[in-house]
Amino acid sequence: MTYQIAILRHAYIPDLQGDETPRIYSDNQDNPIEYEAFDEAKSVIAEWDEEVYILSHNESGRPTYLVVKAVDGDYIHGGRNSDASNYDWSASDCSRNDGDACGECNDCNRLMINQDCQYLLDNAVYRS
Ligand SMILES: [Zn+2]
Repeated sequence: MTYQIAILRHAYIPDLQGDETPRIYSDNQDNPIEYEAFDEAKSVIAEWDEEVYILSHNESGRPTYLVVKAVDGDYIHGGRNSDASNYDWSASDCSRNDGDACGECNDCNRLMINQDCQYLLDNAVYRS
């Protein structure tokens, strides 16, 4: 089994610049960092949680760090297989398109961010 680390940031005012868009911890080529052992990923998180954390503008607290299976991390990192139909749009508040979600406005972005965070939380094998 291979694992990755998901980073869930918390903002005072959600969805400005996608501050709360979940991220998979990646190298500078945007490839997720993979851990062969669960304990290895967990100890990286423990180190981060011990460091002094400087909040960015609009950030309300330390991020939540998750260990996820690589298959789940890849799914979110890759935009749900680059297929927006993998979101549940029935809950959409989209104000455009007469109730058909446009997939581009703030309401739609918010829905995608929330569902991506929820997916990672639901499938996490560890949460800091
Ligand atoms: Zn929309």
